[in-house]
Amino acid sequence: MEPLLFYSTNGKAPLVGLRDALLKGQTPDRGLYLPQRYPRLTTEEIAAFARQPYPKIAFEVLRRFTVGAVDDATLHALCTDAYNYDVPLEPVHGRVRVMRLDRGPTASFKDFAARLMARLMGRFVREADRTLTILTATSGDTGSAVASAFHGVAGIRVLVLFPVAEVSDRQRKQMTTLRDNIRTIAVDGKFDDCQALVKRAFADPALTAIPLSSANSINIGRLLPQSVYYFYAASRLAQPGEPLVISVPSGNFGDMMGAVIAREMGLSIRRLVVPVNGNNEFPRFLETGVYERIVPSRNCLSNAMNVGHPSNLARLVAIYGGQMDETGQIHRAPDMARLRGDLFSTSVSDEQTRATIKQAWHDHRLLLEPHGAVAWRGFQDFTQAEPLGDSPAVVLETAHPAKFPEEIERLLGFSPEMPPSLAALDKLPEDYDRMAADYDQFKQYLINNYGHR
Ligand SMILES: *Cc1c(COP(=O)(O)O)cnc(C)c1O
Repeated sequence: MEPLLFYSTNGKAPLVGLRDALLKGQTPDRGLYLPQRYPRLTTEEIAAFARQPYPKIAFEVLRRFTVGAVDDATLHALCTDAYNYDVPLEPVHGRVRVMRLDRGPTASFKDFAARLMARLMGRFVREADRTLTILTATSGDTGSAVASAFHGVAGIRVLVLFPVAEVSDRQRKQMTTLRDNIRTIAVDGKFDDCQALVKRAFADPALTAIPLSSANSINIGRLLPQSVYYFYAASRLAQPGEPLVISVPSGNFGDMMGAVIAREMGLSIRRLVVPVNGNNEFPRFLETGVYERIVPSRNCLSNAMNVGHPSNLARLVAIYGGQMDETGQIHRAPDMARLRGDLFSTSVSDEQTRATIKQAWHDHRLLLEPHGAVAWRGFQDFTQAEPLGDSPAVVLETAHPAKFPEEIERLLGFSPEMPPSLAALDKLPEDYDRMAADYDQFKQYLINNYGHR
């Protein structure tokens, strides 16, 4: 197999290999990396997944992308190390199941991508005898998944900035109790202030001596591992080659892109359901063909999906033959008929989200938090529009219900049981710095702490 090359969705950057795509994150022309072609798995290869555990499936899918960059034995070891937790497929009714992607160390699906990307980046950095500092601004979930994933990875240091008053105690502790190569700064400001500090540091010529990277959700290294759990679900639910209905609660569209990539690789998907919250720019686009981002994004209960312009849409548009730039402007229209045939999208209000949490519990003893409830409701909307028949279906739950104790308590009258990873946090000592939202101070901090190896 030839090594895969990655191109920019904006079309004005050179092709790169996997290593550069991961370490750079963003393309120099402000586009996003996508593989030039998609390795195909045969029906027999996919059928064999039925007898394999998750880490082995991850290895089989991902080695198609790592040819020439990572040897197979190393990749296999990285997958085994990264995926050391359960991936439950909870039966709901008939052939419908909920896949709980919340058993990783930070209890959100972001662990799947962050843990593998961290291990790959650590590997690439050490091979080049470099060190790398990862700067991340977070409103909660991304920072904790990234910090936890890179914790203890040699050659990489992580600095997370979070708005002091905008993250929950539990979210903060997920970042501030790690220590070692992880530092956190509580910024006296809002998420936007944190993001502005990080962006300025990336663009500051005075900091070029400190190699910085972002590891944020637009990195192709975050996307590829998210194709694996769709193969896994199909291997447990569907006959070889039998089409599956998949429902993915979506914000920045990285998770659903994992399913799109899986389909390009040969997975049989009857329909990809893409429910969003009140940020309904995508279902409107599917309906009208006109794309208008939502500025500012709307604050909804499923807060990790409050995205008014999903960056990964540029990738979806590219795979369907079009071109969209980073501002959301469409330079070449995608094949709308094919998009409408493959996808189904719907907007779920907060009121519907709450009603769904109640209804799922009462009808099926299915415990959902707001993001999973959006997926479940979107799936109901789909089966209203198009009877499911005997098709197998999987609906994604992307966070652990214990991350939303107040909401669940209010709606269902009990508090969800905490997974051990979250329960242990209360006993660990915290360590973080505090800072005003002031760039000069932040820059000095970077120079003092990361200016020399
Ligand atoms: C990030 C996140 C999402 C949205 O995923 P995207 O890839 O941004 O579409 C959904 N649910 C939870 C819990 C998340 O943290």
